[in-house]
Amino acid sequence: MRPYVIVNVAMSADGKISTRERRQVRISGEQDFTRVDRLKAGCDAVMVGIGTVLSDDPSLTVKSEECRSYRRKHGHSDHPVRIIVDSSARISPEAAVLNKGEGKRIVAVSGRADGEKIALLEKKAQIIITGKDEVDLPLLMDELGAMDICHIMVEGGGTLIAGLIKAGLVHEIYTYIGNVIIGGREAPTFAEGEGFVSEPSFPRLSLLESSRIGDGILLHWEVKDPDLKQ
Ligand code: NAP
Repeated sequence: MRPYVIVNVAMSADGKISTRERRQVRISGEQDFTRVDRLKAGCDAVMVGIGTVLSDDPSLTVKSEECRSYRRKHGHSDHPVRIIVDSSARISPEAAVLNKGEGKRIVAVSGRADGEKIALLEKKAQIIITGKDEVDLPLLMDELGAMDICHIMVEGGGTLIAGLIKAGLVHEIYTYIGNVIIGGREAPTFAEGEGFVSEPSFPRLSLLESSRIGDGILLHWEVKDPDLKQ
């Protein structure tokens, strides 16, 4: 069975997830960081696109000792499996996500990834090859499901999120909207890629909950019939 996928993203009041130079911005605060850490700690895996790794060099680790010890108590490693979607294996073996903290990593590549680079990355991560030129997201989810990865939190960026939504693979979305305006037509938004062309193809959401956190608002959405959009 394919994993249950939860997307979590922080965006500015004008819907941007970083600057036009793709520099990381602190959009939320401590209270929301704690929520995100707990959400991550409750998942089997956390996934990002290679664009996020190249821009932000995140470690994707669980930050609080309380959450890590909760995971250990339940027989899990400190950190969820970290998954990077990277068609041509552009990730550096020195990337923080491949080196910081214990636990399993998976790099999902496509048929166009270089064999020598794959061999290098295999020292640090399991490699899953799907798709000819681009990672085939539905097939990747099938493989992850077969590995007993049942819950995945996706941390971005906008291109991967758009690909997952388009493929009907996202079930829930958390968007934290912070009290800052980033602006700029080149600054990335929540869903990048080509966009959904016409109204019947727009994914529809149900609002499950909204709550004020600090000077921003957290919206919790459910995607309506995600599997029907394939
Ligand atoms: P991204 O979504 O992290 O990664 C996109 C890349 O993934 C694609 O360009 C593609 O590169 C690869 N990919 C492989 N197969 C794919 C598929 N089937 N569908 C979609 N993508 C696929 O990159 P991004 O859109 O440039 O986003 C990065 C920006 O988001 C950064 O500025 C970062 O700071 C920001 N960000 C913000 C937040 C937040 O919460 N505010 C969170 C995360 C990231 P290849 O063709 O090379 O494989």
